Amino acid sequence: MPVSSAAASPDPAHAPLTGLPGVGPRVAEKLAARGMTTLQDLWLQLPRQYEDRTRLSPIRGLQAGVAAQVEGVVEAVERGFRYRPMLRVAIGDDSQATLVLRFFHFRAAQVAQFAPGTRVRCYGTPRLGQHGLEIVHPSYRVVGEHEAGELGDSLDPVYPAIEGIGQATLRRLIGQALDRLPDAAALELLPRDWLAAGLPGLREALLTMHRPPQGADVAALIAGTHPAQRRLALEELLAHHLSLRRQRIALQAHAAPVLEDQALAERLRASLPFALTGAQQRVFAQVREDLGKPVPMLRLVQGDVGSGKTVVAALAAMLAVESGRQAALMAPTELLAEQHLSNLRTWLEPLGVRIAWLAGKVTGRARAAALQQVADGSAQLVVGTHALMQEGVVFHDLALAIIDEQHRFGVHQRLALRDKGGEGGRVPHQLVMTATPIPRTLAMAAYADLDVSAIDELPPGRTPVQTVVLSAGRRPELVERIRAACAQGRQAYWVCTIIDESDEIVAQAAQSTFELLSGALPELRVGFVHGRMKAGDKQAAMRAFKAGELDLLVATTVIEVGVDVPNASLMIVENAERLGLAQLHQLRGRVGRGSAASSCVLLYQSPLSQMARQRLETMRDTSDGFVIAEKDLELRGPGELLGTRQTGLAAFRVADLARDADLLPLAQRIGERLQSEAPEVADRLVERWIGGAARYAAA
Ligand code: ADP
Ligand code: MG
Repeated sequence: MPVSSAAASPDPAHAPLTGLPGVGPRVAEKLAARGMTTLQDLWLQLPRQYEDRTRLSPIRGLQAGVAAQVEGVVEAVERGFRYRPMLRVAIGDDSQATLVLRFFHFRAAQVAQFAPGTRVRCYGTPRLGQHGLEIVHPSYRVVGEHEAGELGDSLDPVYPAIEGIGQATLRRLIGQALDRLPDAAALELLPRDWLAAGLPGLREALLTMHRPPQGADVAALIAGTHPAQRRLALEELLAHHLSLRRQRIALQAHAAPVLEDQALAERLRASLPFALTGAQQRVFAQVREDLGKPVPMLRLVQGDVGSGKTVVAALAAMLAVESGRQAALMAPTELLAEQHLSNLRTWLEPLGVRIAWLAGKVTGRARAAALQQVADGSAQLVVGTHALMQEGVVFHDLALAIIDEQHRFGVHQRLALRDKGGEGGRVPHQLVMTATPIPRTLAMAAYADLDVSAIDELPPGRTPVQTVVLSAGRRPELVERIRAACAQGRQAYWVCTIIDESDEIVAQAAQSTFELLSGALPELRVGFVHGRMKAGDKQAAMRAFKAGELDLLVATTVIEVGVDVPNASLMIVENAERLGLAQLHQLRGRVGRGSAASSCVLLYQSPLSQMARQRLETMRDTSDGFVIAEKDLELRGPGELLGTRQTGLAAFRVADLARDADLLPLAQRIGERLQSEAPEVADRLVERWIGGAARYAAA
């Protein structure tokens, strides 16, 4: 393939920005603070949106919040000084409506410009003012009678704001950088026939995005679906893919212990009160195969809530234990970690496995003792929260790191546990588990460094949870429903949610609901958990509920993740409209874990937004986590879905995982091919798209 040699002439891509006219030390510093130091960084600083100056909107049709270009004749000018200088200019057009342009900063010459009868064209976003719509500080120019209504063909790029550098300067600097863009062949890293049909070359794509030419498809550019954008998105997705693959390759260059003895895992399996599902067997077989190799396993196990991931993790841990080494299981909350601890003790202590417990609340002598056992190897399995990763936790010989609900942790935390591996550069195997199903395409982007297994089958005998959506006015009926369920020996959750307010307020709301329900249901044993309780009290309430000593548990969303009480068959969620799909799905996963038919009631407060209505309908219509995840992606976009901590994904310059998801398989194919046929090109792509950002993050 044609690979241009980087050595021959100095590559303008890496020319420093200080070589541009107008870039002195101060401007350079501001750009550098945003990771921009070379010409290439400016080429890739793509417009965030465009100002569409190819059309004029009638003033009558303007809408608050929707940017538009209008042209009108000055009807009145008012200059005020009441609190601060202010200039208001009313313009009118043929639609017989008036728009106010409002300025707080202006020069005398500007006032003179707006003589009544003058024709001005302006661009901006109207808002509702005291006297109808107004635009504050529009960009504008006076147009002569002869050019009335005559339009340009250009879309003006709007760049992401950079503190201390105005749009006009930014446009000029980027324009200068573009003037130094090399010719197409020198810039291109990808053979044309590897790309999807109809996608332009890189040079053309960059120029189209920065300087949309006459006749460009304006609507497509604004929507982000123009071939130029898709071309750049493809290259960016490819670069991210390659970068994750390289991290994986770097990690797998280390050695990992070979774990192959299976007698202990077999004994655990035989002692379980249930048979593994086909999916659990298949996934465990994949894990076992990975563990038998001398390179670190990097595997993600996806499984819907209740699919039984914990037991697969426990089986894997047995391979580490049997080989005389250690395994660690880390969970994102103390509640969940404690639940794992109690399950694992039940399963493993009869087999003679020694378990240590490390969480934030384990302090003093207990902590010292646990640390000692972890360090001298007498603890074979260590269960805990991120307390596991703290300094001072030294493993004797960690061979397998298991991370539950991985989406709750940042990527760097995953790496930190990895670093707890043994000496001599040996790295533990990693098993990460998540119940937030991610659409396949997204998983390919987010977890290109991981192998993915899916437990895509629920244990037998589960009946799907019946979900109903009711207005909050129906709350009294639900009290009767709880009474009936509990009279049959079942248990119920009542979940209180308030978002955007302090935990204190949630706790108070939950408290009053708790009191109300306790009063209305005197024959029931009602418990209460919320995030602000002491950890010990929280766990005591959970334990009592799990042991069947409580009938009804009033809770905040602290119970969202992982809590497992199979006898609970009814859940009521208040203000369900405030929760996202992923969260609702997790919550609902707390019921339907036993064989009894379960139901979930989603209460909402009217009025429902369009988005909230769609979410609740989705919850009512499906219990399939993957369908819900697809819908979530569609409604909210990937940044939300993966959580803000997955910042690497939020940082795309041009790609949008929801919009450009169809490009991912192609990006992956090209990535594999580049990696094997032209690794030096792969390096240059990563450097081009991610290099600067990585330098920035490392600084
Ligand atoms: P999750 O995948 O949500 O973490 P868990 O591991 O908590 O699910 O398992 C949910 C429940 O199902 C637990 O009570 C667990 O003991 C039980 N379970 C797991 N596997 C099976 C199986 N094959 N048959 C029956 N019950 C199972
Ligand atoms: Mg779990």
